[in-house]
Parts: sequence; C-alpha cells; structure tokens
Amino acid sequence: MNTTQQKLNSQEIVELENKYGAHNYHPLPVVLSKGEGVHVWDVEGKHYYDFLSAYSAVNQGHCHPKIVKALTEQASTLGLTSRAFYNDVLGVYEKFVTEYFGFDKVLPMNTGAEAVETALKLCRKWAYEVKGINENEAKIIVCENNFHGRTTTVISFSNDPVARKNFGPYTPGFIKIPYNDASALRDVLENEENIAGFLVEPIQGEAGVYVPDEGYLKECFELCKSKNVLFIADEVQTGIARTGELLAVDYENVTPDILILGKAISGGVYPVSAVLANDEIMNVIRPGEHGSTFGGNPTASKVAIAALEVIRDENLAKNAKELGNYFRAEMNRIIGASDLVKSVRGKGLLNAILINDTEDSSTAWDICVALKNNGLLAKPTHGNIIRFAPPLVMTREQMDECIAIIEKTLKEF
Ligand SMILES: *Cc1c(COP(=O)(O)O)cnc(C)c1O
Repeated sequence: MNTTQQKLNSQEIVELENKYGAHNYHPLPVVLSKGEGVHVWDVEGKHYYDFLSAYSAVNQGHCHPKIVKALTEQASTLGLTSRAFYNDVLGVYEKFVTEYFGFDKVLPMNTGAEAVETALKLCRKWAYEVKGINENEAKIIVCENNFHGRTTTVISFSNDPVARKNFGPYTPGFIKIPYNDASALRDVLENEENIAGFLVEPIQGEAGVYVPDEGYLKECFELCKSKNVLFIADEVQTGIARTGELLAVDYENVTPDILILGKAISGGVYPVSAVLANDEIMNVIRPGEHGSTFGGNPTASKVAIAALEVIRDENLAKNAKELGNYFRAEMNRIIGASDLVKSVRGKGLLNAILINDTEDSSTAWDICVALKNNGLLAKPTHGNIIRFAPPLVMTREQMDECIAIIEKTLKEF
C-alpha cells in the first residue's frame, strides 16, 4: 500500500499512528482532515464543532484567512534566517508585540515549554546578577497541580506522577505550594532565603480549569513585590483573549514581571511562543547565553502579528467574555436537571464541567465519545473533568447549536 498517495480511511490512519508513532498520546477516535473557523471535518466528511481549539491554540478559528495569508506570503518570501543574521521582520514584530502587551522587550521562542524554560533561566539570571543571590542558590516557587509543559526541568516540579515517573533525576531549585493559597506563598516568602520568582498559571487549565478566588493573583503579586521576587505568569493557555480579557491577569490589574505566551499567539498555524519582560530583567541576557534556531524567524513573526491583529480587530476578548457567561448560564440550567454533572466553572471561553463520578471512572471519556458521535469534539482533562474551549470566533447561533448537542448527549447518559 502506498500510504503517501492513497486516500486512507479513519481506521487505516489510526493503525498507521499506532504502528509507526510513539504512543505518547491517547486521542479520541476521530481523524480530522479539514478545519474552518469553529468547524472541523473528519476524513469521511462528518462535521464537528471544535470544543478544544487545540488546547486553546486556535482561538482565532481554524485556518483564519488573514493568518494563513501572512504564513504563506512570508514562507514563500523568506522563511528562516536563524539569528546569525538580521531579518527585516523580527524587529517590526518585536516593536508590535511589546507595545501590544506593554513590556520593554520580548524574547521569541517556539513552543510553550521552551518559553517557560526561558522564563526560568531569565528569572535565575536576574536573581544572581540583579537581586544578588549567591550562584546556584536561587529558588523558584511553583504551585501544586501545575502544568507548564514537558521538558525535563518543567516536569521536575510537576506533581503529576504520569508526567514524572522514570524521567528523573529532576532539576532542583523549586518549592511547591498549594494553588489558590496566598498565605502559603506568604509563609515561604517569609521563611525561606534566596527566592527568585513565583511561577503561576492565572487559571490552571490542564489541572481541570481550576479558577482561583478573586484577588488571589493580586495578593500574590503584591507579596512578591514586597520581597523583590519576580511574579511570572504562564498565560500560554489563558492568554490571547481566551478568558474574556486579553490576559487573564488583566482581571486583577496585575502586570507580571515576566509574561509567558504561546499557543494562540500564532492562531495555531505555526509554533510561536514569547517571553516578555522589562529592561531591568531582560537585559541580563547577553549574546550567546540563550537562543533558538527557529525563535523569532520571519514566518513566525509575521504570523504572530496577524494573529494578534485578528484578536483585536474581531473583538475576540469581548466575544469570549459574553459567550462564556452565556455558556455557563446554559450549562447551569442543563446540569440543574441531572445528577451526571456536578458543576461548571471557568472564565470567558475556558470552561469545564465536573462529572459526578470517581476520578478513575471512564465517564468523562465516554461522554466525550458520545459528544463526538453527536458532532462536538471535547477532551477529558485531569480527574473526571471535561474542558470546553471552542474557538473565540464562535457566534451565538453556533453556540446555541453546541449547547443543544451537549444537552442531548448528557441526557443520553
Ligand atoms: C500548553 C501549555 C504549556 C506548554 O506548551 P507547549 O507548546 O505544549 O510546549 C505551558 N504552559 C501552559 C499553561 C500550557 O497550557
């Protein structure tokens, strides 16, 4: 069988992945071949609403024409130079993105995990060269049930046994505290020496869309300020309008010392991530000390400009806020009439429903399979929780159709 030319059906494609690919994911049994806006289609032509948005990378909708145009034009003009030379796009992007988010400087990378690593390195270097901590003694505070990516250092401070087991030895220098507990942060800041930074997700996405109490981020930010500790926000999933503001920290008027972005900063067409900070912090990085072959390439730069313009031009933060409020109200109406779902939570269009079953039961998975059969794609996350995160370009009419699918599916159980 010449698999590179023949048209394969879903089953054949799944078998190819099983046979030739590492088994590092457990996908829902659907094989997609086309996307447009909030819609995706499988290889047999069946239509679905996308309620995952590639983990919030596709906030602007699939194949947004303006972003795809930026991609194809730049890729066919000058795709990659490496940073050995200047290119005529990077500086323009750097000015654009720093003004857009209100920081002095950006350090461009490709994936979210790389941007987190970059932020950690930046924080440590700042601690030694500006704050004056003795070399190799800096510690960074992180939260329990965090998700910051898959690299060796990042999994070192995860407490997910699946992400960690047999990947040691782990990188030292991290202190873990409970999430949504500012007094735990205060305790560590008062009792431990050599604290350089506090790394936090404004909403814990992978953990199950865990929204902290109002005021938590602000209080943590002020505690950090009082101890000259950097407040580092990982907005890879929550940023770029997903939660109904451009950044989730905007709800509490917090400006992080270091801001980490990824996923939707490219609208999902290309891997782009970014670390933003002001000069006092960013200037500790000098030539040769950090980098990436692809980071800041002309294609990525053009794509990110287009993706961020779409967010602004199409008022996607406002749409996410309004549709999110509507969605949660409708979910509360639906789950009020059944025992299957305990609650709905979230902000903007980053939401989750909590299934009323034990953590290890397959109910959330089974509901996602049934949702798929009814034309809507979502995925369980940690615990018995289903995340609902459609592209932010969704209309009220489309949302109503989706809510009807969810209602119908939950009634089947
Ligand atoms: C997805 C995610 C990452 C990792 O991004 P990758 O591009 O998969 O490396 C980091 N932090 C958060 C909060 C994420 O949601």
